[in-house]
Amino acid sequence: MVDYPYDIHHLTRVGGHSALDFCNTADREEGRVIAEALKDYSDGITGVYRLGWLTEAQAVQLHARAQTHPSAAHHRYVDLIALREAMARVFAAIARGMPIVPQDLERLVSFQRAGGAYRHTQLSDGFGWVWDMPEGEHGLALPLWVAAHSAGELLAAQPAPIRQCDGVACGWLFLDTSRNGKRRWCDMRDCGNRAKAKRHYQRNRPTPPASDATEANAH
Ligand SMILES: [Zn+2]
Repeated sequence: MVDYPYDIHHLTRVGGHSALDFCNTADREEGRVIAEALKDYSDGITGVYRLGWLTEAQAVQLHARAQTHPSAAHHRYVDLIALREAMARVFAAIARGMPIVPQDLERLVSFQRAGGAYRHTQLSDGFGWVWDMPEGEHGLALPLWVAAHSAGELLAAQPAPIRQCDGVACGWLFLDTSRNGKRRWCDMRDCGNRAKAKRHYQRNRPTPPASDATEANAH
C-alpha cells in the first residue's frame, strides 16, 4: 500500500452519488486496492459521516463506542472494507457492462436486510430516511447498514450512467452526467491531466541518440 494522497477528513467527492464516493475511498489497480483512505474503524465512521449518512450525534456516539469495544469495532471495520470492495466490484461491472458476481450482491443484500429494521422515514425538511442505532456493540454495524442501503438506492435507480475512471492506478467510479456522455476521468485536473501529460511527452519526446554502431556505419 502506498500513502493515500488525502486524508479522510478531506473526502474528495467526484462520484456524483455518495455510494460511489464511498467506493472512491480507495485507489485500485485491476480491482486490487493499492491505496487506502479508511485505515481503521474510526476513519470508517468519519468517512460515512462526511458522506452525510450519519448524524453528528451518531458519529460521536460511534467513536465513543469503538473505544469501549475495540475488538468488535475492528471486526466491523473489516466488514466495512469487504462491503465497500463488493460495492466497487458491482458498480465497476455495471460500468463495463460485465456480469455482476452473485456473492458481491449477496453481501450487499445481507447488510441491507440486517439494517432494514433500524430505518424509517421521518418528516423534517421533507421526508427522509432516519436510522436508529441499537445499543452497545451491535450499534457499531450502523456504518455498514447505511452504506449497503445507499448502494441499494443507486442500484434501484438503474439505468444510471455509472463509469470508471480510465486513469492508471485509480479505478474511481462516477456518474457521467456530462452532456455528451463521454466523461473518462474521475477528475480532469488529476487523472485527466496525467494522461494528457503522458501523451504530450510521447508526442514530443526527443529522438533517441543514434547508437555507436549506426554512427560507425554512417562514416
Ligand atoms: Zn481517476
